[in-house]
Amino acid sequence: TVGAVALDSRGKIAAATSTGGTLNKAPGRVGDSSLIGCGCYADNSSAAVSLTGWGEPIMKLVLGKWAVDRVQMGRAPEQVAPDAIAYLYKRLGGHGGIILLAPDGRYSIAHNTPRMAWGICDAQGCRTGILIEDE
Ligand code: ASP
Repeated sequence: TVGAVALDSRGKIAAATSTGGTLNKAPGRVGDSSLIGCGCYADNSSAAVSLTGWGEPIMKLVLGKWAVDRVQMGRAPEQVAPDAIAYLYKRLGGHGGIILLAPDGRYSIAHNTPRMAWGICDAQGCRTGILIEDE
């Protein structure tokens, strides 16, 4: 999966998620990435989110909307991203990664997959890295 969240100079946000789907997927399966509110969601009044992982639990929980709604309720993106991954695991044993960005520029990355590659471009320039889950 490749996911992105973006913020423009007017404070407008956007999200996008692309995937090849799962290995040996059933014919006709529609994964979380293409379902708005599941693998991708954005609302200028709260946050933009892109997430992926094992798609079925993400779809069952409509996890993208779950995360954005919590920012809408006043919670910080830095809290919501790890909470979303914890909720995914606690409710359905799911694994995934999430990027979450608010219109004021606060953002957060969380995952419970073994690794998650990331990149960011902002006023300080562009950086990339790989997050590795703590043992
Ligand atoms: N989230 C995708 C799906 O379940 C899989 C992936 O892109 O890793 O279809």
